[in-house]
Amino acid sequence: MKEVARAARQEQRIIGLVPTMGALHAGHMALVQRAKKECSPVYASIFLNPKQFGPNEDLSRYPRPLEADIEKLANAKVDGLFLPDIAEMYPHGFSTYVQVEGLSERLEGKSRPGHFRGVATVVLKLFEIVQPHFAYFGRKDAQQVRIIQRMAHDLNLDVEIVVCPIVRETDGLALSSRNTYLSAEERHAAMVLYRSLQAAAQELVTGVRDSLELQRTIHNVLESEPRARVDYAEIVDAETFEPVVRIGRRAYVLLAVHFGKTRLIDNLLIEPEGDDVRISL
Ligand code: AMP
Repeated sequence: MKEVARAARQEQRIIGLVPTMGALHAGHMALVQRAKKECSPVYASIFLNPKQFGPNEDLSRYPRPLEADIEKLANAKVDGLFLPDIAEMYPHGFSTYVQVEGLSERLEGKSRPGHFRGVATVVLKLFEIVQPHFAYFGRKDAQQVRIIQRMAHDLNLDVEIVVCPIVRETDGLALSSRNTYLSAEERHAAMVLYRSLQAAAQELVTGVRDSLELQRTIHNVLESEPRARVDYAEIVDAETFEPVVRIGRRAYVLLAVHFGKTRLIDNLLIEPEGDDVRISL
């Protein structure tokens, strides 16, 4: 991978990287399509990174439809797939980690201790191997992409992080490799995530800026669904991920909700523009 990418760089070509854990869906493929518009070559990586899973998380049952993934990437005409095995990424004696302080300890990081240390470490490794000019991430994992931007800035990396919109099912559920875990009943119940974000969006449009008021609305919708067990539903500053009292700057509504054994996340981006507000679901 290093040799191939180095050769492309020497030809002054613009390298794009799309890092994934596989089980590819239209959300991943939207990143690939965006990368294809802006870069050539485009490389995708599939690496189910054990270091970002906690001991009681779903690593062992995470879907691995490798053949189907390869076909999707081939159809999308990516220029290469980087598919390292675990021993290649973490050889015996591996002991160096990236810790993005502060940002990594809240929300997802609080519910999933060590998760972002695993993410930042593997992403830095991928960046070092491929040395892409552009790397593509989904806003679906808003905190993750913020942490990667922070890392890229703090460590003077020569990579631009491109954040792409959330791809959703027609009923609003954000695409996720984990959606395959849901039973029919849980899948139906999971629509409540989008409904709660829509309810918040509705209030924002009518001028509500008070976080507590928005949170009350979101909780009311989430609690109307008996199969939903809320981990967190927070409104945070889009840069610091600290809670905000009143929305005056870019902010996220962030959700993490369990449906049975499956934990799903989703979010809404709020960008105030004068008295108006731009909302991205
Ligand atoms: P994963 O394979 O879950 O690590 O995801 C790989 C990349 O795809 C990450 O940058 C995710 O944010 C992005 N991604 C996952 N689901 C979606 C989605 N529904 N819409 C847009 N991007 C997504």
